[in-house]
Amino acid sequence: MLSDLICPDCGTVYEAGPAEPWRCGCGHALEFADRPHPEGEPLPLSRLDTSNGLWTFFEFLPIERRVTFFEGFTPLVEAPDWDAAFKLEYVFPTGSFKDRGATTTLSRAVELGVDKVIEDSSGNAGASIATYAARAGIDADIYVPADVKQSKLMMIQRADARPVRIEGRREDVTAACLDAVEGESQGDSDEPPWQTGTGWYASHAWNPAFYAGTMTFAFEVAAQRDWTVPDALVLPIGHGTLFLGAYRGFSLLNEAGIVDGMPRLLGAQAAGYAPIVDALGGDTTDADGNGTTLADGIQITDPARGNEIRSAIESTNGDAIAVGSDPIETALDRLHRSGFYVEPTCAVAPAALQQYRERGVVADDDDVVVPLTGTGLKTL
Ligand SMILES: [Zn+2]
Repeated sequence: MLSDLICPDCGTVYEAGPAEPWRCGCGHALEFADRPHPEGEPLPLSRLDTSNGLWTFFEFLPIERRVTFFEGFTPLVEAPDWDAAFKLEYVFPTGSFKDRGATTTLSRAVELGVDKVIEDSSGNAGASIATYAARAGIDADIYVPADVKQSKLMMIQRADARPVRIEGRREDVTAACLDAVEGESQGDSDEPPWQTGTGWYASHAWNPAFYAGTMTFAFEVAAQRDWTVPDALVLPIGHGTLFLGAYRGFSLLNEAGIVDGMPRLLGAQAAGYAPIVDALGGDTTDADGNGTTLADGIQITDPARGNEIRSAIESTNGDAIAVGSDPIETALDRLHRSGFYVEPTCAVAPAALQQYRERGVVADDDDVVVPLTGTGLKTL
């Protein structure tokens, strides 16, 4: 059954369909009306058939079709130099955790019978949506900044998707993309933004199907720890796709009675691009008052679900801090020397863990999980 969409803010329900609005008429991000979870005791990892990857947890997903490369169940490894466990989210078909969301988003697109998906992305999400669209046999237009890295552009083109290069700032890329999604018929009335343009918005920031997929991060972490919850997660925050996925996933496991308690959610933002840190009253720059351009994957100034990110932090006694260029560089060198060949954006969370320890937010005996979100190979 196709799940309808609901606005968690004003309660409006929208019927599922290829022209469903990409956000509510009130401006809020939409969610699935259905929130399934399984009954009964979970199987121990040793008895769980994980050959379907993250779709092992299909009972939690309000999506029935599967567009999949059997992705997921990424390794959870001890990282003694950091006194933490790293979840290797760069071990995905396209090299980043974004595949968690792309598999569910393109599955939803197939369920809805859409002809074309449209996405705007500076990198990993675009490559991921393009590749899963190829798997689904659906056309994809990926709006990218004109100065996008050649390696990421090539991934989009090799997947037979169409990159649409837009001059200007990141916001201009999104605006051009939304014009294509909404089409000519949109006025500036109170109507919700129906998708009556050239395609369906497979947005990692806005589409609820994407967040259904990123929830599986929590299910895997819990299963890999014999259905226990770590004391804390340290996660990067741009739009918060993985951060909110982790929060929603652990919340659902608690509601289903599968685990007991929530991890503290500790966010890591890039200095100069830290709206969540700002809202919590923290320092949004480094010690010298500077920002950083090293973490290009999380340079988001207005996350689509900012309020939910803040309430996830507050309800888990979490926090968010901004990390500058020097600690990012230091963490990246250390990661590469240790065999974790990740991209610079990915170094923000391990760098933040060190700062959380120095500030006493994370105690020495705390049990911490940190995702390594994206491969370094695409930045070559
Ligand atoms: Zn609403």
